[in-house]
Amino acid sequence: MKIYADNAATTRMSRRAIEAMIPYMEEVYGNPSSLYSIGQEAKDALESARETVAGCLGCSPGEIIFTSGGSEADNQALFSAASAGERKGKKHIISTAFEHHAVLHALKRLEKEGFEITLLDVSGSGVVSPKQVEEAIRPDTCLVTIMYANNEIGTIQPIAEIGRICREKGVTFHTDAVQAVGHVNINVKDENIDMLSLSAHKFHGPKGVGALYCRKGIPLLNLIEGGAQEGGKRGGTENVPGIMGLAAAMQEACDKIDESAAHITPLRDRLIEGLERIPHSILNGDCKKRLPGNVNFCFEAIEGESLLLLLDDKGISASSGSACTSGSLHASHVLLALGRAVEIAHGSLRLSIAEDITQEQVDYMIKAVDEVVAYLRSISPVWRDLQEGKREFILK
Ligand SMILES: *Cc1c(COP(=O)(O)O)cnc(C)c1O
Repeated sequence: MKIYADNAATTRMSRRAIEAMIPYMEEVYGNPSSLYSIGQEAKDALESARETVAGCLGCSPGEIIFTSGGSEADNQALFSAASAGERKGKKHIISTAFEHHAVLHALKRLEKEGFEITLLDVSGSGVVSPKQVEEAIRPDTCLVTIMYANNEIGTIQPIAEIGRICREKGVTFHTDAVQAVGHVNINVKDENIDMLSLSAHKFHGPKGVGALYCRKGIPLLNLIEGGAQEGGKRGGTENVPGIMGLAAAMQEACDKIDESAAHITPLRDRLIEGLERIPHSILNGDCKKRLPGNVNFCFEAIEGESLLLLLDDKGISASSGSACTSGSLHASHVLLALGRAVEIAHGSLRLSIAEDITQEQVDYMIKAVDEVVAYLRSISPVWRDLQEGKREFILK
């Protein structure tokens, strides 16, 4: 059996998204800035894609800027909000310790430039409380940036409440919603979101294309100097096929968001229940406030990389930590932020399932993980010490 269970890293493109792109490579390949008809047709398509994206988020098309993906949208949002803050003498930013590296590394750069960063604690459930945000806001706070849903443990943050607090205090609020868009219902106006990042390849669209929603009146920096594309904020000929694929995938995902969640959520819970039966294991993150497709576990005395390789032999594509940290020997910053011990954080497994998942596949994954964990423990000196009482179990 072949099971792709790494949809938080990237997804397979949907047929509709692929078909939406083809005409813009074969027929309507004109440059949207050209005046003749195939240029103008491309321009019209681009603007209709902007309307689609705006429609899905509940904003106006003028508030959408297309980017090369989630990382660029995050960078654009953070550097723009920081620069606007600096002009008013405000150099304090609030975020969390478990953001994506596109946010954390941008914050590191801002810190070097003299900004003060407060990272809120997410230990325990992996959910920030709005009260923590409220208490952290100071007169010199220029930005709150908190992800909508975490990419490793799938926990969903109370974005609407955080948005309301930021709006009341007059602080710009950005959310990295790359994991959430197309998976949970979002309305940027109802939730008082000022800036939001999204990326097509996390909802069955193409890689290398994303968008930033930026509320009217919030200034953006010119990220790429060049032509007048994207309101002069991002020069360069637009990625028309990619943007058409993004819009088609987003419309499709948003149209069937409730239907997909109704299918995936019970299977996710079945997977969680099955893995919880493995002794000395623990689910990472709140069991209810999480994405429909995310399952993330730690297993005592297990090394994540070996677990992945053996699961791959059984046909399962999974992840340990985020795609960006796998291949390095660092424990996941997200699991450390939750408060997991370093040795436990090394034994993590993320299974992120999509709409095409079946009960048969879920049962196969439970059996496979159970077998692989048992095998790895049977050859582990750490496990032997635990059995002989020479070491204490961390996970009960
Ligand atoms: C994938 C991801 C990103 C990066 O998006 P790219 O389009 O790959 O640059 C940023 N934030 C989160 C939460 C993600 O999951």
